[in-house]
Amino acid sequence: YPIVAIVGRPNVGKSTIFNRIAGDRISIVEDTPGVTRDRIYTRAEWLTREFRLIDTGGIDMSDEPFMSQIVQQAEIAIDEADVIVFMVSAIEGLTDADERVAKILYRSNKPVVLAVNKVDNVEKRADIYDFYALGFGEPFPISGSHGTGLGDLLDEVMGHFPEKEENVEDQTIRFSFIGRPNVGKSSLVNAILGEERVIVSDIAGTTRDAIDTRFTTPEGDEFTMVDTAGIRKRGKVYESTEKYSVMRAMRAIDDSNVVLMVLNAEEGIRDQDKHVAGYAHEAGRAVIILVNKWDTLEKDNHTMGEFEDLIRTEFQYLSYAPIIFVSAKTKQRLDKIPALIKRVNENHQRRIQSSTLNEVIMDALALNPAPNMNGKRLRVYYATQVAVQPPTFVVFVNEPELMHFSYERFLENQIRKAFDFTGTPIHLIKRAR
Ligand code: GDP
Repeated sequence: YPIVAIVGRPNVGKSTIFNRIAGDRISIVEDTPGVTRDRIYTRAEWLTREFRLIDTGGIDMSDEPFMSQIVQQAEIAIDEADVIVFMVSAIEGLTDADERVAKILYRSNKPVVLAVNKVDNVEKRADIYDFYALGFGEPFPISGSHGTGLGDLLDEVMGHFPEKEENVEDQTIRFSFIGRPNVGKSSLVNAILGEERVIVSDIAGTTRDAIDTRFTTPEGDEFTMVDTAGIRKRGKVYESTEKYSVMRAMRAIDDSNVVLMVLNAEEGIRDQDKHVAGYAHEAGRAVIILVNKWDTLEKDNHTMGEFEDLIRTEFQYLSYAPIIFVSAKTKQRLDKIPALIKRVNENHQRRIQSSTLNEVIMDALALNPAPNMNGKRLRVYYATQVAVQPPTFVVFVNEPELMHFSYERFLENQIRKAFDFTGTPIHLIKRAR
């Protein structure tokens, strides 16, 4: 998906515009347990074209001086985005800080669309022409509080999107490592690429500096490791800010089929791990949990079991994700990773024939008939798979409200017992027949 970043000095109204463009989707995100409420990255859509939106202003670097914050936010936009929306304010007019941002953006070679916010009434429109001086062509007047002007702005932004990629040819398994800083993602990337002798190519991203690395295992399986550039790039201050790393993770999740969620055995589980895991789950990707730095622990017969229990308690919504204990340093169990990715990827795309599926459902009903609710009994007629990645099943019933959450869970578990869905979420949709 093309990425659009909003930049500008503080108080020009970036977050208001971000929320307006993100629209309804935000409430969907908020309902998911385990997901952080602070959003700087969101899915968005304009005229049926889907894209991703970043609010660089939401990346808090409060310990930095004012100007250096602005500079860093502009740099993030330049690194991450396909198109940059440079926002200024009609009320305050042109400021030194605006000019500072302009200078950085000017050197970037990324398309920049200039938006003048807070143009709430038409008479004020004349003032926006001062902003031509910034050197980004026609300024687009918008109003965050009234929601006006956004259509024209987005039309312009969309005009700069790269051509839609035809990735029909990509038969490889796309996966990414995600996790907070220092859990060992880059070490794992390097260790795994070191093991796989046959590195085919580095594929440069379109305009971003995302780099996918493709490799083939000795068994002949082809993989694409997503966003290795983002992981390998080092030394920028903003790497360590939580929101920035969560944003990076969300981007990698978007581009992958299988997500390897990396934890650090030495440090246990932190809140930030939960935020990242929540996004992976919400996106419906296949997930594997890697506990890295396993070499650092003094272990006895219980250590692994205890760590596993901790993970299962802290990430209940990821109960389908297999857990593997590894070390990038000693290479312990790294050789198991490609086969595990391949397996969960197959499960993520698994299709079950309706006849087979219904045998499982009927057996489940016989084993544990649906309980009465308010004197009414749930009837389950038929189920059918309607999608893959993740596998999604529609269950036709007499009244959807009669299917209690726990019964839904039971049906899901019976489906999981009958088929290998390790590593993938499965979705059940209840429909009245
Ligand atoms: P990233 O920020 O997630 O990419 O983490 P890095 O790969 O940069 O690793 C952070 C630190 O942990 C580095 O000092 C690594 O050498 C160290 N490290 C990574 N994996 C392991 C491991 O399996 N065992 C040990 N003992 N140290 C590791």
